[in-house]
Amino acid sequence: MEAPNLMEAAMKFCTKAIHVGQSPDPSTGSTIPPIHISTTYTQASPGVTKGYDYSRSVNPTRHNYEAVLAALECGAECATFSSGLAATTCLFNTLRPGDNVVAYSDLYGGTYRLLEQVFRHWNLEGRYSDETSTSSFEKLIDANTKLIWVETPTNPLLRCLDIKALAELAHAHGAKLAVDNTFATPALQNPLNLGADYSVHSTTKYIGGHSDVVGGAVITKTEADMEPVRFYQNAAGAVPGPFDVYLSHRGVKTLGLRMDRHVENARRIASHFEDHAGIEKMIYPGLESHPDFALVGSQMSGPGGMVSMVIKGGRDGTFRFCERTKLFSLAESLGGVESLLNHPAIMTHASIPKEIRESRGVTDGLVRLSVGIEDADDLIADLEYALG
Ligand SMILES: *Cc1c(COP(=O)(O)O)cnc(C)c1O
Repeated sequence: MEAPNLMEAAMKFCTKAIHVGQSPDPSTGSTIPPIHISTTYTQASPGVTKGYDYSRSVNPTRHNYEAVLAALECGAECATFSSGLAATTCLFNTLRPGDNVVAYSDLYGGTYRLLEQVFRHWNLEGRYSDETSTSSFEKLIDANTKLIWVETPTNPLLRCLDIKALAELAHAHGAKLAVDNTFATPALQNPLNLGADYSVHSTTKYIGGHSDVVGGAVITKTEADMEPVRFYQNAAGAVPGPFDVYLSHRGVKTLGLRMDRHVENARRIASHFEDHAGIEKMIYPGLESHPDFALVGSQMSGPGGMVSMVIKGGRDGTFRFCERTKLFSLAESLGGVESLLNHPAIMTHASIPKEIRESRGVTDGLVRLSVGIEDADDLIADLEYALG
């Protein structure tokens, strides 16, 4: 019998998640590689190193973690950062004054703030499409457009954008496409295989997966695209420390398992409450009623673990619901094993003026659930009680 092909590129998702970047330590045989805390590396002779000299530039623990993320996203290389926004900052810094970025308007608030309150001063312009269609992005593109930036699914309305079509559009205009893949994770969506040039993550969410470590990552499809990213990572220095990297890498090993369960629970909740008397509207990309249901089927292997819904009874009824859940904690963030509940209009999207917010669908009745991996029956009972 021929030996199976277990080269990295041939491995399936959960195998990669556990084995890439986790070779036993050659000096001791320890099955789990040690956490390398040293800031500096002893040289045999000036300039003669074993590949490591100073920990901001390169660190073995971080190197292993970057290897597994690159493998899971089917990219050439990965650079990790101390937060998701540090990763985003890096990518915007590969652009130059006078360039512009075209993004979808339902954008993570911190990314919008970065473009409008940091980069605008340096003459990098953000332009925003109010529609998901590729043609509405095209109208905003000119000769100075160097990057199209999208999240899909978006936050909190869970709209999905066509990665393949946007990649073709970007490339036809000499621009790149970056996808913030935080909500989907590489377990459910591989933007680079669909034509995107960069996949960006807040690893704080599903990749870390336990709501206990902040981090970010940029994965590039080509080695050439990693060059300016790697340069900036070292030059600006917002790198994650070895303990954070160790924890995040530990999370990665169960990402595939966790996402299966997040999706299963989210599907159960979405279908259970879709026609519930206390719910005005259920928003989940896995429901046929969702406007992007067909697209989700073609570019994702599952609709994700995020569910949004509009509660009946206006602001008061929604506040009562938010105060009554026991398992769903009322908290910002998402992607951990525990279920969270968020009121976007007051909590995460309060900085957007009320009229603009409401015109986009972020009303006082909207709540966003980050469905955890608890038992679905318990989660459903918790929501039933809170709605009652
Ligand atoms: C949280 C988040 C970010 C920012 O990441 P931090 O780790 O908080 O800096 C960016 N994009 C999306 C979609 C997020 O959910």
